[in-house]
Amino acid sequence: MEAASGFQQVVSQMTRLMRQELFGEAGAPAWGTPFREIEEFCCAIGDMVARELMRQSMAVQAQRVPTGEDVCPECGQSVDTPKDEPFEPHVLDTCRGPVDWNEPKRYCRRCRRAFFPSEPSIGDTSERDDESDAT
Ligand SMILES: [Zn+2]
Repeated sequence: MEAASGFQQVVSQMTRLMRQELFGEAGAPAWGTPFREIEEFCCAIGDMVARELMRQSMAVQAQRVPTGEDVCPECGQSVDTPKDEPFEPHVLDTCRGPVDWNEPKRYCRRCRRAFFPSEPSIGDTSERDDESDAT
């Protein structure tokens, strides 16, 4: 995944708005605030932004099931969206904290089975596992 050109400019504009929202008109913490305190605060905000970016990305991706993949993984038949519970809340623990979104649900009448067409694959976590084994 390559960052779009000009993305640094977007980040810069976004953080300018965040500084005003967080610190008021001055746009900066009070004079004399220790760097460690500013660092800790900014990292917590960064984690919050990362979680929101993941949450929105997953929520939007979950809504965009390709037509060819909106079928039963068991028998390949077309499926129904349960009217009583079309979505189910989904929570995932990430390196930046828990991220939640609504996962669309499907039901196959033939197999009498409910499933999630956009079930996320976590991806390769071997690198992360290696780091935790090193301790
Ligand atoms: Zn089926």
